[in-house]
Amino acid sequence: MERRKLVTVRQITSLDPIPGADMIEVASIDGWKVIVKKGEFSERDFCIYFEIDSFLPESDPRYAFLMKASVRLFEGIRGHKLRTIKLRGQISQGLALPLEKFPELSDQEFKNDLSQLRDLDLTEKLGIKLFEIPTPAALAGQIKGPFPSFISKTDQERCQNLLEEIFTMNKDARYEVTTKLDGTSVTYYFFNNEIGACSRNLELKVNEENEHNTIIRQFIDSGLSTAGYDGYAIQGELMGPGIQSNIENLKEHRFYVFDVQNLNTRTYLSPTEREKFMQDLHASNKVNSTMIQHIPVLYRNVSLEQLGIRNVTNLLDFAHGPSINNPVREGIVFKREDGRFSFKVINNAFLANEKD
Ligand code: AMP
Ligand code: MN
Repeated sequence: MERRKLVTVRQITSLDPIPGADMIEVASIDGWKVIVKKGEFSERDFCIYFEIDSFLPESDPRYAFLMKASVRLFEGIRGHKLRTIKLRGQISQGLALPLEKFPELSDQEFKNDLSQLRDLDLTEKLGIKLFEIPTPAALAGQIKGPFPSFISKTDQERCQNLLEEIFTMNKDARYEVTTKLDGTSVTYYFFNNEIGACSRNLELKVNEENEHNTIIRQFIDSGLSTAGYDGYAIQGELMGPGIQSNIENLKEHRFYVFDVQNLNTRTYLSPTEREKFMQDLHASNKVNSTMIQHIPVLYRNVSLEQLGIRNVTNLLDFAHGPSINNPVREGIVFKREDGRFSFKVINNAFLANEKD
């Protein structure tokens, strides 16, 4: 997946009242629910939509009203991070503002072709940033270089942005459903007889300089670095002390594999092939099988229909539930059986619990 298009022009598909609220109503924007000022929009209006995790600068008066809620520093700039909120029992994710507030965009080609509008990324043009928590020191390490170009990154798109793909184009697809764990994305690879270790966006040095780095330690201590799987990248979530808030309360680090890529064919193993790969890895006794595990699988080879999921509301409800040791999981990830289409469903209860 490319970089997140945090700010785009989108259409409001419906507006609905919020029980007990006079000043606000809830807009449906693709799969998102967004609280707006009552009367500011009509159904089918276009708007500028800012996804959650957008960081809006305090210096722009159009966002001034948000600063009352909270202001923080990010990359030296004061501003507000959009997060999931709940007002009068209604969840709200992101921000919708009228097009008229953005005269600087009037020369853009806002043709009524929805599919094209969604591709028009206004994030940079409007000076918006993706708010990201800085990498903790234990994970940062000495950098070898950018993420290798011969491996695909691990990002997943949010279901709210994929209504057409999920409910029309892949209506009858069969999926693997796994638990989405809240750690840090790690890729270990074996290619042309070299080994490598990467954080989400960078490759790290596998040498003494990084001997205390958690990502490198796990590679070596688990036995994986010498397991010899040339031509494969093994991708997963590294969990444990010092990573995010360790919501599973693990005492030692564990690497939970959610993807295996064949680097020669540049394809993902299917979920079935990946589970087999992990079984073989464990059977080989080359690795410590507590330190490297397969990500928890909730369902194999199921259709949305079998799960009773007909729309995005059903899908979001379905994401509720526990993870490994936590009663509130971050979410779930759907992967099509051929390994070529996937998406994440973040548990709104998890987002609503987030501190910032
Ligand atoms: P996010 O953390 O919201 O940016 O979502 C994408 C990330 O989820 C990926 O980069 C992975 O590191 C992580 N992730 C956690 N669990 C899974 C899973 N079961 N399948 C795929 N990705 C996962
Ligand atoms: Mn994550």
